[in-house]
Amino acid sequence: MSATSLTPVPFNRPYVTHNQLDYVTEAVRDGFTCGDGPFTRRAARLLGELTGAGHVLLTTSCTHALEMSAMLLDLAPGDEVITPSFAFVSSASAYATRGAVPVFADSRPDTLNIDERLVEAAVTERTRAVVVVHYAGVACAMDEIGRIAERYGLAVVEDNAHGLGGFYRGGPLGSFGAMATLSFHSTKNVQCGEGGALLVGDPALAERAEIIREKGTDRSRFFRGQVDKYRWVDIGSSYLPSDILAAQLTAQLESFGEIQARRHAAWRVYHEGLAGWAAAQGVARPAVPDGCAHPAHLYYLLLPDLANRQALIGHLAARGVQAAFHYQPLHAAPAGLRYGRVAPGGCPVAEDVADRLVRLPLFADLGEAGAARVAEAVTSYEVR
Ligand SMILES: *Cc1c(COP(=O)(O)O)cnc(C)c1O
Repeated sequence: MSATSLTPVPFNRPYVTHNQLDYVTEAVRDGFTCGDGPFTRRAARLLGELTGAGHVLLTTSCTHALEMSAMLLDLAPGDEVITPSFAFVSSASAYATRGAVPVFADSRPDTLNIDERLVEAAVTERTRAVVVVHYAGVACAMDEIGRIAERYGLAVVEDNAHGLGGFYRGGPLGSFGAMATLSFHSTKNVQCGEGGALLVGDPALAERAEIIREKGTDRSRFFRGQVDKYRWVDIGSSYLPSDILAAQLTAQLESFGEIQARRHAAWRVYHEGLAGWAAAQGVARPAVPDGCAHPAHLYYLLLPDLANRQALIGHLAARGVQAAFHYQPLHAAPAGLRYGRVAPGGCPVAEDVADRLVRLPLFADLGEAGAARVAEAVTSYEVR
């Protein structure tokens, strides 16, 4: 097999942008390496422009931003938060950490997002919030979810780790909930290794978020000269990232257009190159409903069953291509069973797609040629 002599294609490779190393050098040289320095302000401003968020608070991770959202919701033990089962652990664990009960709702079979038709049946007297994850950066049905939330007085939190640069009916993802979170982990479109952000619209909520982010103190007000000493005023933790990370993030955000153009080019090669093969083999490609513009965060295929999914991963590995499966349903995970409960109807879609989904390599410098090589390796697989 001559294909194995080709350079391997990793699943992900963090993209280094123009200025990224220079900005790190600048932060270190200028001695501003703790949090809330000049690069934090620059990165926050750029994120505000991209998302339209009134208040952007950089954090050490998306998980930490979700934990902040749980504190801001003032959740009491026994309160419930409706959240998708087919999701990353943090959109449940952040609320369980505050004593709340994640109530796991199933996904839509097309977008794999939380199924808006199942949300209302999951609401009880104790429900306080609905957490949505825009899987692959394809928007959840925010109009419908917003209406249900309004009817029952629930907060909506968008875990927008996949969706920076995505839109729903003309509005940027991250602008629909009371709060939204972002991730800058090295696997995300814009990355600084580890990092995140909390986006908040309401100024009062933002003011409290600032305190929670600074160990529960009013240190930020002190630095702005609004109080003459800073004190412990609320719960909180240390959620601010070093300005060295914010320096990398600033450079990445300044190159956002270029990153996105590169990712979209590779995504399109997959989507067009695999259309005929997928139709013939009974394999599903990502669905993007009308009104949704996605940011090319990931490319996945749904094979007919687990055996074929595993066989395709092996087939690609033998050809030097690293593919990966994705979320295992949270409602059936050990901690999901302990801390959460499942919404009426169970989560059959989450269980089904978890076994059948495979993600292909997608990163900014994969290139159209790299994506074409991966697509060729995929199309040489025959479903059995
Ligand atoms: C990556 C990811 C997270 C966690 O992000 P961290 O920054 O690593 O904490 C949370 N939710 C989703 C949907 C993610 O993809």
